Amino acid sequence: MYLDKDAILNSLTKEDIIKIVTYFGSSYPKTDSNGDLIFQSVCHGSDSWKLYYYHEPNEDKGYKGRTFHCYSKCSDSFNVVELVIRANRVKGKNLTWYKALRFVGELTGKLAVTSADEIEKEKNRINDFEWINRLKSVKKNRREVPTLSEISENILDTFYYAPHEDWLNDNISREALSRYEIGYYGLTNQIIIPHRDKDNRLIGIRGRYLDESDIERVGKYVPLQISGKFLSHQLGSNLYGINVTQNKIKSIRKAMLLESEKGCMQNYSYFGEDSFAVATCGSNITVTQQKLLLQYLKCEEVIVAFDREYHDAHSFEAEIYYNKLVKKVAGLVPYCKVCLLLDSENRLPYKASPTDMGKETLLELLDEKIVITMDEVNRVLKESKKEK
Ligand SMILES: [Zn+2]
Repeated sequence: MYLDKDAILNSLTKEDIIKIVTYFGSSYPKTDSNGDLIFQSVCHGSDSWKLYYYHEPNEDKGYKGRTFHCYSKCSDSFNVVELVIRANRVKGKNLTWYKALRFVGELTGKLAVTSADEIEKEKNRINDFEWINRLKSVKKNRREVPTLSEISENILDTFYYAPHEDWLNDNISREALSRYEIGYYGLTNQIIIPHRDKDNRLIGIRGRYLDESDIERVGKYVPLQISGKFLSHQLGSNLYGINVTQNKIKSIRKAMLLESEKGCMQNYSYFGEDSFAVATCGSNITVTQQKLLLQYLKCEEVIVAFDREYHDAHSFEAEIYYNKLVKKVAGLVPYCKVCLLLDSENRLPYKASPTDMGKETLLELLDEKIVITMDEVNRVLKESKKEK
């Protein structure tokens, strides 16, 4: 089942919000002079009236509307889904982001769902036109994006969903950790990263070890193993984070391509629902990923923001790295605008992602993005042939 996040959240009225917050134990809200609602702080389990709700956008305060702000312990802004997660956490209950969204929809009677039946109907409708397409496309490449097998959602209940200090200190907000359903697995001391596909199906779970000895033994990021079974999937058959940012990407026809899951969360921490980042989870852009970008997300621009893998920007090492990147994007360049984010100064440490050093640095790098043309691709390919 696919919950329509935007339909649910955008339909919430002030009355719906009151229903939700009072459900978690706040008394009926007071109002401030602007008519904003003031609740008791159910976000951190206190009776104090420090939880404000700004329904309308407020430019002075930088709120986009429908935003809570806790002026006490949390000292943080968040939306209603995050509020539900926090209020549950106070009661000792773990909730994933999707379960919290579902709760919001159910309590307010606004559960906008696209059921499997409807999706099937839609598919049939599209299939009706297939013969026309067949006439049009002679021998067009018809290989589709492979569908990966689904993992049971119940596995997610095994984990603990409190934000982990290590990641909060790494330019990742609490809201981003919730949105990407980041959990913690005490048994192995791992941070848990669920991977979902474009239809929101759970297709893999990766764990990031925190103990140095584990990292040395098996590596930092590995597929999670539960009861002897590896919850792995082909990383190259998906774009990590596509379930979170696909609507934004489709509406602006632009995507930022990162290497790691962490980069997606950092980007979300800076831009919230305006984030248009997805991750390859590797340093290559596979054919499937290219198809997802071009055919499914319909990107007209792809900004490739891979990790900095050179020490000095004005070195042969940097030149080699640049040529490598150009070869990696060669398959995209004929179909859309492709830009590279490169660090000409020393803003990023060696091996760092463009998202690692905060929003300001990322914006500076974005200002300096360079466009890769077909001529440039041809030049690099020709040169590398010569070298051989
Ligand atoms: Zn609070």
